[in-house]
Amino acid sequence: MNTGNAMPGDDILLKTGTESVIDTESAVYLLKKLQQNHNLTNIEKLASDGRKAVWASVNWALPLVHAAGIIPVDVGALWNTHSHESESTGENYFQIPPEFCSMVKVMAGRFHERKPGLINKFLYFAATCQPFADVMDLAKLSGYDVYAIENVTSFKAQDRRSEVLDFLVEELERVTLWLNDGELLPPEKIRAELERRNEVTRKLRTFSDLRRLAPSALSNSVMMRVLMGASHYFGCYDGYSALLDRFTDELRLAADLRTDENDDYIPILFVHNGGASKHYLSLIDEARALVVGWPSAMWDGLYRLDIPPLESVANYLFDAQPLGELGEVAGTSAANRCLQIERELKRTGAKGVVTVSMTGCPYGGVTQKIEREHFERLNIPIVTLESNVHQELPGEEQIMRIKTFFEMLDSVQ
Ligand code: SF4
Repeated sequence: MNTGNAMPGDDILLKTGTESVIDTESAVYLLKKLQQNHNLTNIEKLASDGRKAVWASVNWALPLVHAAGIIPVDVGALWNTHSHESESTGENYFQIPPEFCSMVKVMAGRFHERKPGLINKFLYFAATCQPFADVMDLAKLSGYDVYAIENVTSFKAQDRRSEVLDFLVEELERVTLWLNDGELLPPEKIRAELERRNEVTRKLRTFSDLRRLAPSALSNSVMMRVLMGASHYFGCYDGYSALLDRFTDELRLAADLRTDENDDYIPILFVHNGGASKHYLSLIDEARALVVGWPSAMWDGLYRLDIPPLESVANYLFDAQPLGELGEVAGTSAANRCLQIERELKRTGAKGVVTVSMTGCPYGGVTQKIEREHFERLNIPIVTLESNVHQELPGEEQIMRIKTFFEMLDSVQ
């Protein structure tokens, strides 16, 4: 067990990690406790005790944050509470049109209303959309210490030239200096985090493959919650790793006990590109559909361990982005997502695709249109839905669309 700095969730592992009895309830219980502990209040308390925390919206570079001993805080925490109030500030004070992306409106409002407190650093990747970058400029004006990982543009396969790689490695070095109060991070610390991340990726792949063999053992909503922890480990690597082991054991057992009668599920892919998705996942659960692939939320690429660690992080980005594997809403990754979805359809045997994009996101809307036309040409059923950052039920029209989609899929099974 890691005996380093205590993280939110560590106490849960101590209480539950030594149990030898494995059952679904215990794994879900552990997930719930890890999620509950990894909340903004607890992280702010740790920060007041001297731990560093950073708002981080850039999954592929998170091993650098972990290597600096910093707690990454998911940007979703910015709209977990008071999202309507912040949105209203975004619309009324900054005059952002009501029909525009709720994430941008809420963040603009939130940075204006709440000056930086204990968590005042914000790390993001400059390949994101322009409105997001504009909001980050507002955050700077409000006193946040913002770092944009520089890149000129999203990388395409042909950009993988030595001078571009060198540039990115230098930029990642600057990121580590920014994270670590002007000191370079020891390469062995970064390498250790890359190894951890690779281990999590391998475990997630096994877990996800087993789930296809035991579809009734785990709901789609729970699966999404597990995947969401992959980047920050809910602040507790050992707890998250134990959680994956526990679910894997349960699924292995459930796959052994599997019978045809309780196995009649429609396999689909779920492509989530912003906004709240839990209500859609509940509707998918109700339709007895099984999400067998999560393009945009899960990639099984590994960090190379045979090269210097910052080079490895840079190569990871160059591997992932041209394949559409970074889950970005704008740029190369989003433009190549059709290919990524096609690969997942072949690998998993999914019968249809559900995509969710943020209402009012110009990038997401275009990507969904491209994907709808692409998959309709291939005769692959696809439904494109919308959401926002507020945790509320989707509108009646969206609910009807998803229900109709599953009725259609069910009739052609
Ligand atoms: S959802 Fe779209 S508009 Fe909103 S921040 Fe993301 S890319 Fe930008």
